[in-house]
Amino acid sequence: MRSSEPILCQKKNRLKASQLLRVYAALRKAYGHQKWWPGDTPFEVMVGAILTQNTAWTNVEKAILNLKKAKKLSFAALRRISKEKLAQLIRPAGYFNIKADRLKCFMAFLDRECGGDLSELKRSTMPVLRDKLLAVKGVGPETADSILVYALGKTSFVIDAYTQRIFSRHGLVKGHETYHRWREIFTWALPKSLDLYNDFHAQIVRTGKEHCRKVPRCEGCPLQRFF
Ligand code: SF4
Repeated sequence: MRSSEPILCQKKNRLKASQLLRVYAALRKAYGHQKWWPGDTPFEVMVGAILTQNTAWTNVEKAILNLKKAKKLSFAALRRISKEKLAQLIRPAGYFNIKADRLKCFMAFLDRECGGDLSELKRSTMPVLRDKLLAVKGVGPETADSILVYALGKTSFVIDAYTQRIFSRHGLVKGHETYHRWREIFTWALPKSLDLYNDFHAQIVRTGKEHCRKVPRCEGCPLQRFF
C-alpha cells in the first residue's frame, strides 16, 4: 500500500461488532487508553465541547486558560458575565461572538434544568438528556454526544468527521449516511460500555489526526492491516 492511498474495501459489509472491536483493540494496543476528555471537571468538559466547534483543540486550550485566569470557569461566573466580556475571553477559540452566545444559552439551560448542579442533571436518562441538549441553541448532535459521554457519563457514541472518513475509507460504511444513521450503526454494533464509547472515539480522533488526514498517511497507521 502506498502511503498516499487509502485502503478501500470493495465489499460494503454490514458493520459487525467483531469488526469494530478488532479495530478498537488495534488502536488501543498502538496508542494505549486515551483517558479522555482533556478537562479538569465535567463543567470544563461541557464548556470545551462548545468551544471546540469548528476549531482545533489548541485554540480551545487558550480560551479555557483565559477563563481560568479570569476566574470565570464556573457555572455561577459564566451565568453572571456579560456576553461581550465572555466573547473577549474566549477569542482564541474563534467565532467568539457566536460561541459566547452559545455558552450563555447553555448556562441558561443548566440554570433551568438543575440550577447548575450537574449531579442533578445526571439523574435523567441518556435519551431524555440528549433530547434536552439538542434543544439548546448551538448544540448539535456531536456536541450533545460529547457532553453526554465525557461530562455526564452516559453511553452515547460520538460521531465526528474522522469517524466518517476512517470507516468509509475502509468500506465499512458507505459514507453518505446521516449523523443519526452513523450513530445508530455504532450503537447497534457495540456493547453498551461507557469506557468503550469514551475511549473508542478518542482513539478514532487520534488516528484521524496522526494518519487519516485529507491525504491519508497509511504507512504506520494501526489500521493499515485491516479489511
Ligand atoms: S485509517 Fe489509516 S490505514 Fe485506514 S485509510 Fe486512514 S490512514 Fe489509511
